[in-house]
Amino acid sequence: MTDPILENLNQNQLQAVETTEGYVRVIAGAGSGKTKALTSRFAYIVDRLGINSSNILCVTFTNKAAQEMKKRVKMLIGDTYDVSLITTYHGFCVRFLREEINKIQYPKNFIILDAEDQKTILREVFNELDINSKNLTFKQALQFISKSKGNSDYLSYILANKSFEHENTENLSLKIFHKYLDKQKRNYALDFDDLIHFTVYILTTFNEVLVKWQENMHYIQVDEAQDSSDSQFELVEMLSRIHQNLFVVGDPDQTIYEWRGAKPEYLVDFDKMFPNCETIIMNQNYRSTPNILKVGNHIIKNNKIRVDKDMITERPEGVEVVHFHGKNDFEESLWVASEIKEILKTEKANYSDITILYRANHISRNIEQSLIKENVPYTIFGGVKFFERKEIKDVLSMLRLIVNGDNISFLRMFNHPSRGLGKKFMERLSYLGREQNLSLLRALEQNITDNELSKKGAAEFLDLIAELKEFAKTKSISDLDKEILERSGLAALYRKDGDENRLENIKELVSSMLLLEQENKEPVNVEEYLQEIALYTDLDTQNEHQDKVKLMTIHISKGLEFPYVFLCGFTEGVLPSALSIKERRSRAIEEERRLTYVAVTRAEKRFYITDSEGYNFTTGLNKYPSRFLFEISEEFYIRKGKLSPEILQASKVQARDSNTENKELFGVGDLVLHQVFKKGRIKAVNLDKNQYSIDFFEIGKEKPIDFNFRFLKKI
Ligand code: ATP
Ligand code: MG
Repeated sequence: MTDPILENLNQNQLQAVETTEGYVRVIAGAGSGKTKALTSRFAYIVDRLGINSSNILCVTFTNKAAQEMKKRVKMLIGDTYDVSLITTYHGFCVRFLREEINKIQYPKNFIILDAEDQKTILREVFNELDINSKNLTFKQALQFISKSKGNSDYLSYILANKSFEHENTENLSLKIFHKYLDKQKRNYALDFDDLIHFTVYILTTFNEVLVKWQENMHYIQVDEAQDSSDSQFELVEMLSRIHQNLFVVGDPDQTIYEWRGAKPEYLVDFDKMFPNCETIIMNQNYRSTPNILKVGNHIIKNNKIRVDKDMITERPEGVEVVHFHGKNDFEESLWVASEIKEILKTEKANYSDITILYRANHISRNIEQSLIKENVPYTIFGGVKFFERKEIKDVLSMLRLIVNGDNISFLRMFNHPSRGLGKKFMERLSYLGREQNLSLLRALEQNITDNELSKKGAAEFLDLIAELKEFAKTKSISDLDKEILERSGLAALYRKDGDENRLENIKELVSSMLLLEQENKEPVNVEEYLQEIALYTDLDTQNEHQDKVKLMTIHISKGLEFPYVFLCGFTEGVLPSALSIKERRSRAIEEERRLTYVAVTRAEKRFYITDSEGYNFTTGLNKYPSRFLFEISEEFYIRKGKLSPEILQASKVQARDSNTENKELFGVGDLVLHQVFKKGRIKAVNLDKNQYSIDFFEIGKEKPIDFNFRFLKKI
């Protein structure tokens, strides 16, 4: 008799599935069936052990991956089970906070800030501090804020019952940070960084809450564990303490979020933290042809900080990997477009079987041009997220203003479309708001007769909100949406702009709400709806079944697989990125190499690498093929397009010169010979600046010399 849960699993996967108790980790390369093992295990625990599915937490990174897991689990055990705990870290935190955030006197309809909302707050902060982008850009300010939220220390500020308004500090970034926190607090608003920190904070502060959740979480499973950050790992570890069933799977070679705090050590040193843990290794790849796998294995071997593991596969050889080198970026992308047509013709494939990956978003522009020209339908994942598009954000802000009355939405919408309410109006209103300790909306309601505030536009705005609030009491969310559009004047505004796209997008929003209403047996709760969509990414809103070529960054492609993959813009300064080259830390280059490995291992049947000559605007240098190309032995791929011996030579020299990875550094005290300054002795080795300080005897001076300087030899 066949067993849908256990059939098609190899020996190691079977072991992973059946070892349900205790601390277990799976370390295995790309495409080896880690996610498959994890979903089968979930099904096994429910179906064979009889555990309630709501006692199994299963976390991963992207919504897309979580949806995929749910789908696979449902295929195994049917859809009568609750699979809402198969989720992302953020998704879990929102769910947790909805239940527990009142412990820290926040309401359960707290709002979640996206990038646009963060900017709205910053705009206000900058206004109040009377600074502008000359002092600091929004981007810099947001980076500072995110960095300052690196751990949960800042929470004691947020939760202390005081405002930072009067805090004395001269440091501008810190001032901005404090004001930002203050405004967040006033609005009960959490940004993405906060979700996890608030969760960990509540769990560590309130023991009864911790115990309650620990008792519920009989089994915990983590996918892509190599990219867990401190607080993410802390969260799952903490929750696993009572039942002690923690299953983590990952591939250290696919760590691509170190720059954002990922610590592959949690996976690699899992056995040190839990000495009784069981480790399962898998090395058979089921995804890619041997030809593709060889390229992946070959590239990743160049990383120093790794445990060597070669993937093997039993699939037939397949076609060769192709590298195309274009004379310019136009030639590169046209070649991609024509190759896509060729694949469709010869392979009986659809457009949707094809995916184009790149390291940096800007690469898509060139590709898009050719796809349009050649009539190849495509869709981009990433870029401006659907829910952050201006028109969508407008409607959602109105919705949020109606249910929450928060300042952030107020600031965005009170004079949009224009109601003739200017800067003076706003200054007076914020003053009164602060003075009377009221939200802007409440302050306006209370002070509508105030000289500065008694404007026609202001009264109209209040009426509008009141009417919509009334409407919201009885009507569905999609109807409310339509009402908002018409009554607020937004629809008229977009119509006047003649912007079809905006209206289309809004229709899309309304129809997605309708769909949700039909799916849900109960009426949709607006607050929960808003919290949920705040976590959506573009990837989640795209229609899977459209027959279009997919374009996305490598980061987004993590965990996914596609029959035909193009990796475009395989150029020095793009992959590896200019920043990683500049940093000259071998760790940064290693992360870029892992990104390349992730890209290669997404492909099932065919894999193409492309690059082109020309000028790179980011680096200000001529473009050369990526150094990683020269790490692949030429017998492993075929080259199309003309790569002249000169370019080939120049690229190799360039790659070698900027390559610090394999260089043995000289030590303090070493005697060296410099081509011009002659003999000298190393006085210091400065790792931050990548330079030595050398005392040259002949000239009697100490000079800083770059690690990479070619004409310096040890004697
Ligand atoms: P990644 O590291 O990219 O996340 P992964 O290790 O999670 O990859 P999966 O996505 O689980 O790999 O599996 C890769 C592909 O191999 C899938 O299409 C899956 O269905 C298939 N597969 C996995 N295990 C087996 C098996 N034992 N027999 C046949 N096919 C398998
Ligand atoms: Mg996976």
